[in-house]
Amino acid sequence: MRVALVGGGVSGLTAAYRLRQALGDDAELTVFDAADRPGGKLRTESLAGTDVDVGAEAFLVRRPEAVALAEELGLGDRVVHPTSMRPLVRAGGRTTALPTGTLMGIPASAEQVAGVLSEDGVAAVVAEPSLPAPTLPGHDVALGVLLRERFGDELVDRLVNPLLAGVYGGGADSLGLRAVLPALAERIDAGARSLTEAIAALLPPTSDAPVFGTLPGGLGVLVDALVDAARAEVVTGAMVRELRRSGTGWTLTVTTDAGTKTEDCDAVLLAVPAPAVRKLLATPGTAATDLADVELASMAVVTLALPRGTALPEASGILVGVGETWDDGTPFTAKAFTFSSRKWAHLDDGQALLRGSVGRFGEQDALRATDDELIRRVRADLAELTGVTAEPVAATVRRWGGGLPQYGVGHPERVGRIERDVAALGRIALAGATWHGVGIPACVATASAAAHRLADQLLPASALVGD
Ligand SMILES: Cc1cc2nc3c(=O)[nH]c(=O)nc-3n(C[C@H](O)[C@H](O)[C@H](O)COP(=O)(O)OP(=O)(O)OC[C@H]3O[C@@H](n4cnc5c(N)ncnc54)[C@H](O)[C@@H]3O)c2cc1C
Repeated sequence: MRVALVGGGVSGLTAAYRLRQALGDDAELTVFDAADRPGGKLRTESLAGTDVDVGAEAFLVRRPEAVALAEELGLGDRVVHPTSMRPLVRAGGRTTALPTGTLMGIPASAEQVAGVLSEDGVAAVVAEPSLPAPTLPGHDVALGVLLRERFGDELVDRLVNPLLAGVYGGGADSLGLRAVLPALAERIDAGARSLTEAIAALLPPTSDAPVFGTLPGGLGVLVDALVDAARAEVVTGAMVRELRRSGTGWTLTVTTDAGTKTEDCDAVLLAVPAPAVRKLLATPGTAATDLADVELASMAVVTLALPRGTALPEASGILVGVGETWDDGTPFTAKAFTFSSRKWAHLDDGQALLRGSVGRFGEQDALRATDDELIRRVRADLAELTGVTAEPVAATVRRWGGGLPQYGVGHPERVGRIERDVAALGRIALAGATWHGVGIPACVATASAAAHRLADQLLPASALVGD
């Protein structure tokens, strides 16, 4: 029994581990990844002697899947949580505390956001409950259309978009309500009289329980543990170029430094972004148009190590609102900063570490700059926001071309059609950030489900390990 997994990010590696559990020791599992190492967007690098994440840096712990996986892999007692430092937001030319008690920046009352909005902006939020009850034009709607109509532009530009950009790399105008805030859509469907009322009902009770976790040493620790537990052959520098049905299984065409060869397998699991799935499934009958409709945002993470003793603000980071400029009118290049050595106690060893994120969906001009220029611009933004001008002792730029899928209007139906068409091909499954959530816990959940579906096809129920 041989299963090929295309893509060795957290999704492909989790799926390999689940397949190992389901199929047992004899199954031959091979993970092919085009990059120079497994992990995909989980990538830890050494900067000035410290292991830092230059892609994803943390996982939600209020969803169970990533923590449960860490525990299963023996890493549970190593998970750490952020310090009590809070983020700031640059909005309306001022840097102020990011409001709490909102759902992705959407408040349950104007009080929450008063410090960030102008008088007119606050008045729009106050007036929202007195508008006619919300209805959804068509089945789905761009979040921006709904929110701008109900709350005005300021709330979207100053709060909602910076928060969405941190998750999707994109903003409310291109993201669909049903995929991004499904619980809000359900409340509207169920007859909520206003968005304010719906959000009030959705906000979790205030709690001191941590929201995020990570691993000292970086998320590469999770990648290494997954590779060990999956006991799969991981082939890096291996670009899968073609996929053909052959008999009951599949044949892959794989290019490595050593040349191009074909690999036969009984089943295949694709844990790659939508454009790669589309290319690999270039056969009639698959949802090529739907796959092409999943757009991607590109971004870059600029990580800086500043000299020991450099004082960063007492905050975990700063989000930058859309359209914000320096006092002299220069637009910001960075959309957000994370003050890593403030946010994470294990990174606070005297050296100031921080990340600047660049690149929003639809506004990717900044990414054309060279690495040196990006570092220069991010440092200049930092100086404008915080007054910190120290020369870095080390700096690195990691670009994530097409790094995050955009969950546009109609995304859930689109995904449903793609999954149905792909499943009909037999002995193939899809995993990855494209389908049911971009965060690490969602990727773990989607990958586990995909691996189980594939295992069910490969073995009669009675033969599944553990039955
Ligand atoms: C900058 C950034 C920061 C983020 N921060 C967070 C965070 O803090 N917390 C969080 O929960 N999420 C975060 N995310 C999102 C999350 O990291 C990703 O959604 C998730 O890691 C994606 O995992 P994946 O395995 O689905 O895909 P990927 O990690 O993209 O892995 C796919 C792999 O497939 C390989 N590949 C592609 N095509 C082929 C091919 N044809 N042949 C062979 N290999 C191929 C690629 O090399 C890649 O390694 C962040 C994302 C980015 C870009």
